[in-house]
Amino acid sequence: MLFVTAHPDDVDFGTAGTVAAFTKAGLDVTYCIATNGDAGGSDRSVSRTDMAALRQREQRAAAAEVGVADVRFLGHADGQLQPTIALRRDISRVIRQVQPGRVVTQSPERRWDFIFASHPDHLALGEAAVCAVYPDARNPFAHPELLAEEGLEPWTVNELWIGGVPDVNVAVETTATIEHKVAALLCHESQISDPAGVADRVTAGGRAAGQQAGLPEGCTAELFRITRIP
Ligand SMILES: [Zn+2]
Repeated sequence: MLFVTAHPDDVDFGTAGTVAAFTKAGLDVTYCIATNGDAGGSDRSVSRTDMAALRQREQRAAAAEVGVADVRFLGHADGQLQPTIALRRDISRVIRQVQPGRVVTQSPERRWDFIFASHPDHLALGEAAVCAVYPDARNPFAHPELLAEEGLEPWTVNELWIGGVPDVNVAVETTATIEHKVAALLCHESQISDPAGVADRVTAGGRAAGQQAGLPEGCTAELFRITRIP
């Protein structure tokens, strides 16, 4: 399956417990990250080129913590993402290459109750990724150069999972994998100002989601909206 996000670290804040549960179950996971994260961090002494390289290293290390070796960066500019035809094509290319049954991505809808989830890059990425899943990747006449020049046949994704939305319809229990999520998050050293507090924050958030999903006291979860697409 394929996880598509805007920035290095998005997949870890949102869904690394689920990723670890999937890889533990023997499923193959690929990450597709649209930007290189060069607008991240607060240290002005670090050049943006160095920041991009650092964030890619951090993301690859975080991926390894949850059993993911295949990490692909699309190289779009951080902070400037738009749901363009070019971005839709780039995501469609990865979908056709990886041929996932399931794509997990970010919501294109702004959340007024938690604005940090709705960074403009996340909204743009979500819109482009949904369009890439349906209709672009499955349509041989969308981005025809993918087929004509790269030999990439159309591919139909049957499940679209969106995280960070109010109207969720599935919970993935992460009680057995949350320690891996914490370890993955701690790999993003350039982005985390309070590493000592990460485990408590992640556990509290996971338990709240577990409670919402009706799991027993103390269990943790991550929540998604699944759309099945024939
Ligand atoms: Zn982000």
